[in-house]
Amino acid sequence: KEKIRIGICGYGNLGRGVEYAVKQQTDMELVAVFSRRDPASVQTVAPDTPKFSIDEIARFQDNIDVMILCGGSATDLPKQTPMLAAYFNTIDSFDTHARIPEHFDAVDKVAQASEHVSIISVGWDPGLFSINRVLAEAVLPQGSTYTFWGKGLSQGHSDAIRRLEGVKNGVQYTLPIEEAVEKVRRGEQPELSTSEKHQRECFVVLEEGADALIIEQQIKTMPDYFSDYDTTVHFISEEELKENHSSMPHGGMVMRSGVTGEATQQNFEFNLNLGSNPEFTGSVLVAYARAAYKMKLKGDKGAKTVFDVTLNDLSHQSSEELRKNYL
Ligand code: NDP
Repeated sequence: KEKIRIGICGYGNLGRGVEYAVKQQTDMELVAVFSRRDPASVQTVAPDTPKFSIDEIARFQDNIDVMILCGGSATDLPKQTPMLAAYFNTIDSFDTHARIPEHFDAVDKVAQASEHVSIISVGWDPGLFSINRVLAEAVLPQGSTYTFWGKGLSQGHSDAIRRLEGVKNGVQYTLPIEEAVEKVRRGEQPELSTSEKHQRECFVVLEEGADALIIEQQIKTMPDYFSDYDTTVHFISEEELKENHSSMPHGGMVMRSGVTGEATQQNFEFNLNLGSNPEFTGSVLVAYARAAYKMKLKGDKGAKTVFDVTLNDLSHQSSEELRKNYL
């Protein structure tokens, strides 16, 4: 059987995660990695993975079935996904929630004309969490839905700490507040803002001579990032940071607290506990690449989201096998 030919466009943490994930799928092969940087400077997981400049990508249009875009949501994907949907079926992980409708429209225009399938905003949030929010509300129309994140490393908040003068290095974890989770589980259906659901924990390495008290104060009062949150700051050594804080864990849960019948409490929970955010997200993108491939074979086209993809198309097993093995 022919394998599904995959390309990776953009090679950072997520690109690496996708390369690992393709290896675990028996019905796929990685054709090439594309980057805006000098391809020779890009360190792929497998040293023999073919690497090319993004300028050459269009000539691979007949050699790649699905292009997986691994660029950043802020500035890369709004440009790259519409550009590449002209040549390929695509998958991206666009995660700027408020701008998803406009991204969808921009991609749809191109993908309709080129007759490709482009699944946008794939991953875990948006992605698997989105599916569970829809599922829970469809099944339990009376109730409240909650999304908690963590324990997870937040890139944006870690960067904000590292930009402070006197800080040599640092990471920030977002954690759900247990008490808030318990309230939801008890069926209280509380009104909770983001800061009432999460706390922030920082591990900071100071520059020589920097004042810990001042830095702690600067972090805790930083507007938008920390000031609304219960924030804890720990000072540690560079060695400790390397040893204990080098992986990129994340996860969280979608919960719906619903009521059926007269007053029967029903709790829906979907929980992810991820050792590596980019490796897991990469694994999700790769599964959806299979779906894009199968949907295109059936004559589908245009922009899609996770809501448009069936489990039949996502799985490597046939519908018959799925009915036999999982129902
Ligand atoms: P990175 O910053 O690691 O990579 C983004 C891009 O930056 C790469 O595609 C690459 O493009 C470029 N790049 C990478 N390394 C370097 C370097 N050393 N020097 C210069 N440029 C570099 O981001 P991530 O891979 O961690 O995340 C990508 C996106 O994934 C995020 O913006 C987020 O939107 C999304 N995401 C979505 C999730 C979801 O659940 N939906 C979960 C996690 C992430 P190039 O090779 O072309 O230079």
